This record gives sequence, structure tokens and C-alpha cells, in this order.
Amino acid sequence: MTANAKAGGMPLHTKMLIGFVVGAVAGICANLWAADSAWLGGLVTYVANPVGQIFLRLLFMLVVPLVFSALVLGVVEIGEPSALGRIGLKTLAFIFTVTAIAVTIGLVVVNLLEPGRGLPPEVGQAILASSAENAGAIVAKKEGFSGMDLLLNIVPRNPLASAVNGDLIAVMFFALMVGIAATVLRSDGTRSFLGTVQGMYDICLKLIDWVIQLAPYAVAALLFSITAKLGFDVLVQLARFVGTVVLALSIHFFVVFPLLVKFVGRMSPIAFFKRAEPAILTAFSTSSSSATLPTTLMVAEERLGIPRRVGRFVCTLGATANMNGTALFEGITVLFLAQFFGVDLSLAQQVTILFLCILGGIGAAGVPGGSLPVIAMILVMFGIPPEGIGLILGVDRFLDMCRTTVNVTGDLVGSVVVARGESPDWHSARS
Ligand code: ASP
Repeated sequence: MTANAKAGGMPLHTKMLIGFVVGAVAGICANLWAADSAWLGGLVTYVANPVGQIFLRLLFMLVVPLVFSALVLGVVEIGEPSALGRIGLKTLAFIFTVTAIAVTIGLVVVNLLEPGRGLPPEVGQAILASSAENAGAIVAKKEGFSGMDLLLNIVPRNPLASAVNGDLIAVMFFALMVGIAATVLRSDGTRSFLGTVQGMYDICLKLIDWVIQLAPYAVAALLFSITAKLGFDVLVQLARFVGTVVLALSIHFFVVFPLLVKFVGRMSPIAFFKRAEPAILTAFSTSSSSATLPTTLMVAEERLGIPRRVGRFVCTLGATANMNGTALFEGITVLFLAQFFGVDLSLAQQVTILFLCILGGIGAAGVPGGSLPVIAMILVMFGIPPEGIGLILGVDRFLDMCRTTVNVTGDLVGSVVVARGESPDWHSARS
């Protein structure tokens, strides 16, 4: 059952919304009437926190196997049929460049608007200090992130140790290397290894599906904990977060995509959007690039007239690897929560976040909420309390719809651009 499916008769996202409202209202009431009472402290410590923590732990549990398997398979898919090598390289160049543009837009907008600021810094610091586990991590991370170390840390000394320590970027590097080697070396051994990796990936998707079913309860619990501490102000902050994400996604969708279509793909952006409409609508309503893939392929081949070998390759790979909206969202979310909790991030750290988000876009699964495990992990890497995820979960469904739309449209833009690069005199259908 996917996260779109009805759970217990009611769609999951409706349940999540109810969890959000119940948690927020109960938390605000508790904050107003019983802020310093012992029972409220007990309720938060022994009920709300553990429920939220279990959900977060389940997400963390999936990060390493998911990111590893998604990246290995992503790379192998690019290199598989030798005839597609050139298209593969072009697609890869497109993914990296356009995702980097998306994340940069997100980071600039979130730095300019600062949606996470506003609460007195002591409040954020107090929340931070109350989570001792993270306090240690912050100190460790701050020491780790300096100049050259930053670059050196990308290459793991011991990939298993990196996985154990949650050093995501090193795990990603290792996965990329494994993927490249498995592409170059086609033996029975590598083939059966890839079969196992595919199995691991499929299992992770199933597990995400199950974990997401718990989200409504986790949302209620995490929101209760936060609003009981902070009251109403936190909701204002959240509205600013939603506005920031939607603005940044709109810039990418309405400015960057049309420019690419017009000047690189040499096609009218208006015609492009008209023809892409079925895929755009499916993406918006399913919140899943993978679920939209059949529609994306149909649009690419039949409505945009993209040569089959290009469209099939770019869209299939793009459904898991080309996620402009997701990468942009990850960047904004990490910075928003850093601002919210009063964690200062240096320019070097923000550049690291940029790279992590580009890879995070590739490593996230194309299912509703697929980017949440990646975000949770990046938060921990930078000493930002992962509980912050609870804050954004309540509004995540809507943002997921918007970012998936950008993800899928990005795949179609990529198809147009690569098709044009392959045959400069290609004419899209009915252009
Ligand atoms: N729902 C997104 C997609 O399928 C992934 C995510 O950002 O959670 O494209």
C-alpha cells in the first residue's frame, strides 16, 4: 500500500493533517494553561517524545541502505547499454547542473527571507541543549568541518565506519564508486550483486511505505512537544517556511525551466507546458515521481515527440535520480531548521549542504515523503535536532505535491534538452 492509499478508510494525508491539528492545538492549550506543570513535563517526556523518536529512528534506519542502493542502481542504469553512454553522460551533466541551480535558488531564498528566524535565540538554544545526544554531535561536527577536512571527509577511510557514524557524504561517495565499477565490470558476480542491491532497494521502499503509515501519530506527538514548549509562534514560523519553499520552487519552475526549454531545447515553453500537462497533474496529485513515470513516458514520447531511446532513458533515470524540487526542498528545510534552532552554519557548511542536497536528490526515493530520511540524516550531520522534521511533517503533503511536480517536469525538460543535443534538427511533435 502506498502512502497515497487509504489507510483505515481515510487517506493518509488527511490523517496527517488531523495529527497536525490535534498535536498543535493540544500543545498550544498546554502551553497556555499548564506550561510549567509536572504532568505536562511527564506527558512530553514519557509519551510524546518517545512516539516521535520511534518514528525518527525508523526513518534513520532506512537512510544508509536506501541511499546506497539508490545511488548504485542510479549509476548502473546510466552506464548499462553501451550505446547509451553518450546520452548517459549528457543526462548526468543535466542532472548535476540543473539540480545545483535548484538548490542554489533554495539556499539564496532561504538566506534572504530567513523564515526560521524570529524566535528569541535562547528558545532555540534551549531546545538544542535539551537534547544531549545532539549537543555532543554539534561540537564534534563543528570541529570536523574546517577547510581541507571538508574535502577529505568525502573519501571514506572505511566505508563501514562512515555508514556506522552516519557520515552520509562518504557513504554516497562509496556508492558512486561501487556503481561505476559495477558498470565497467560486467561479470556474473557483479550481476548477482546488483540483483541483491535491487532487492535491498525494493525492501527499503516497502519499509518507507510502512513507516510513513505511522506519520500521523508522529506528527501529533512531535507537534505537541514543540508547541507545548513554544506556543503559537511556532505556527507562524511554519507558514513562513511554506511560503519560502513555494516561492523557490516557483522560481525554478517558472523561470529556470522555461529558459532551459527555450534556449537549450529550442522549443516554445508555452507549448512545452501545455503538452506536459498530464504528467504535471499526475505528479501533483500522487506526490510520487515513480507513480507518475508511466504518464511521464507517455508525455515524452507521444505529446512531446521525443525519440524513444532518449525519452525512455532520461525519464526512467530521472524518476529516481533527477529531483530538482526535492533537492531544493532539502536545502531550504535544513537551513530553515538551522535558523529555527539557532544553529549557525558557515559558508563552507552551506556549500557542503549544497553537495549533499544534489546527491540527496539522487538518493531520495520517488515516493511520497521519499526525501524525509535524507533530510533527517543531513540534520544530524550538522547538529540540528532531527525533531524539527516533526514541525514540517504536518505541511509536508502539500509541499510534496509541489516538489514532485517540479521533479517530474524537470525530467521532461531534461528529455527535451538531451533530445536537442542528440539531434540538433529534431522537431518536437506538433511544434
Ligand atoms: N515525493 C517526491 C517524489 O516522488 C520525493 C520527495 O521529495 O519526498 O518525487
